[in-house]
Amino acid sequence: MVPASQSSHAKAAEEGSSRAMGESAGQQKAAMTYPTEELVRRLVGNLLRSDYRGNFFCSSCLVKLARESLDTIYPKSEIERTMDTVFQSPGALRFVPTFLCAGCRKTMPCLGAPSP
Ligand SMILES: [Zn+2]
Repeated sequence: MVPASQSSHAKAAEEGSSRAMGESAGQQKAAMTYPTEELVRRLVGNLLRSDYRGNFFCSSCLVKLARESLDTIYPKSEIERTMDTVFQSPGALRFVPTFLCAGCRKTMPCLGAPSP
């Protein structure tokens, strides 16, 4: 017969180890913890190259546009965080530190598609 205290102890140890693993894994592969990054990146690229060609948008407007296309399965905070990442490493897109956003008409750091 297995004493009840033994099984609860094993459970606690399991929880402890998985928590520790979660922390180190989260730090090691930060990109993996944001599954929407690739999605957001592609979406923003598509928007800026087609519907909004020639326009530049700030991150909050792009978050809004992305959410309209993405459904609301992703929390806004996660998309905002992902958008920050895209702004920091825009890849094929063009980052402009100060530009008149085509969405909110504020002078903001903006992202757009480079002219062909
Ligand atoms: Zn804006």
